[in-house]
Amino acid sequence: MNEDLFARGLAKGSQTKVINVGRGVAASAGKSLSEVLGVDKPFLVVADEHTWKAAGAAVCRSLQEYGQVAEPMIYPGYPALYASYDHCEEIKARLAKTGATGVAVGSGTINDLVKLASGELGQPYGVVGTAASMDGYSGFGAPMGVGGVKVTLPCPAPAVVVFDYDVAAAAPRSMTASGFGDLSAKLPGGADWILADAVGVEPIDPLAWELVQSGVQEALSQPAALAAGDPDAYEGLVNGLLLSGLSMQVYEGTRPASGAEHYFSHLWELDHLGADLEPPLSHGFKVAIGTLAMTAFYERFLERDFSALDIEAAVRAWPSWEELEADIRSKMDGPLAEKGVKETAEKYVGAEGLRARLGSVAGNWPALAKRLRAQLLPFAELQERLGLAGAPTKPEDIGLSALDVKATFPKAMYYRSRYTVLDLAREAGWFDSLVDEVFEGSYWA
Ligand SMILES: [Zn+2]
Repeated sequence: MNEDLFARGLAKGSQTKVINVGRGVAASAGKSLSEVLGVDKPFLVVADEHTWKAAGAAVCRSLQEYGQVAEPMIYPGYPALYASYDHCEEIKARLAKTGATGVAVGSGTINDLVKLASGELGQPYGVVGTAASMDGYSGFGAPMGVGGVKVTLPCPAPAVVVFDYDVAAAAPRSMTASGFGDLSAKLPGGADWILADAVGVEPIDPLAWELVQSGVQEALSQPAALAAGDPDAYEGLVNGLLLSGLSMQVYEGTRPASGAEHYFSHLWELDHLGADLEPPLSHGFKVAIGTLAMTAFYERFLERDFSALDIEAAVRAWPSWEELEADIRSKMDGPLAEKGVKETAEKYVGAEGLRARLGSVAGNWPALAKRLRAQLLPFAELQERLGLAGAPTKPEDIGLSALDVKATFPKAMYYRSRYTVLDLAREAGWFDSLVDEVFEGSYWA
């Protein structure tokens, strides 16, 4: 099933040509890398001390069977390499000097650095993944620190991705747990897309949906085996993460892979949460708490009967844009407030639009509620699985209080123009009471 999915995604996606996954594939990585990237230039392997041991040396040996290999760039293993533009320029300079094609051997940071360096030189590159830590391997764009702020710079996805389940199974447990957290986001993130589709804001793209969603439930079903490093359990997680990245290529946007849960993570990242830890707090760990928060929100949302909503009362209570803008500015400061105002304006509708949105959900509620319930895992179940995988299960695990998470809810709603359940709840007049319920009950006890 996955082979067929990969093939269909690759045929539709514009950037990645080949995804080579399986047990033991790192030792023969040279074959697919050379087939896709060609052999008229040498290969430059970029790794750090850990990923060099995990797969880099084997990848170099394999590449030597097919073409020239420049002296590899191996960064220190400690402290953890940071995705800063300075490092990108170093790699770019080495690629230019050696006239080589880049091969990243590593996870998030090394991949992002080689991706951006290659993209800026206008040349393709390949990546050999070493940990099932996030879904960015097969995605485009690179989050990068530039002059002290984090921005996502545009650059194409890798032309070829090689991922060996045995290498992923031997990676540090916390990295796998991070990938498990990132993949769990596809549950509430998918639910947000179902709602955006239902109100006519952003229709579901069937192929992008199938790529990202078809294997997620199964991929999240073996947290203990993943934590125990059983290579057979890694197929689902690795493929799920790669298919998620591929779905973003197919859709040419991040909607298939992220909803409101990711905005919690982005907002905490803007606050530098855990940035001073060694290694820094991972994307997937922040996303795990955002995912739990959104799962709790959905659980309470689904306890209410939307078909019984008094739509005319909701329309009467609907704030004018000026009132809404004042609320955004009361919850966010500085440049974030400006962003929030701009993004929220894009999804704001007047009374007529609101009536239509609420009517389309209310009129279709039983079927919609059933679909949302099937999309989500119960909070308690998800929390247990995250714990078994070694991921955070409560705000304190990532250095936050429940109140910090609570205060993030309105910001997550205003942060992006993307329509989520937070918007629908606000439009129904339920937002504040639902957020209260998420923190009054037993969720975070
Ligand atoms: Zn993510």
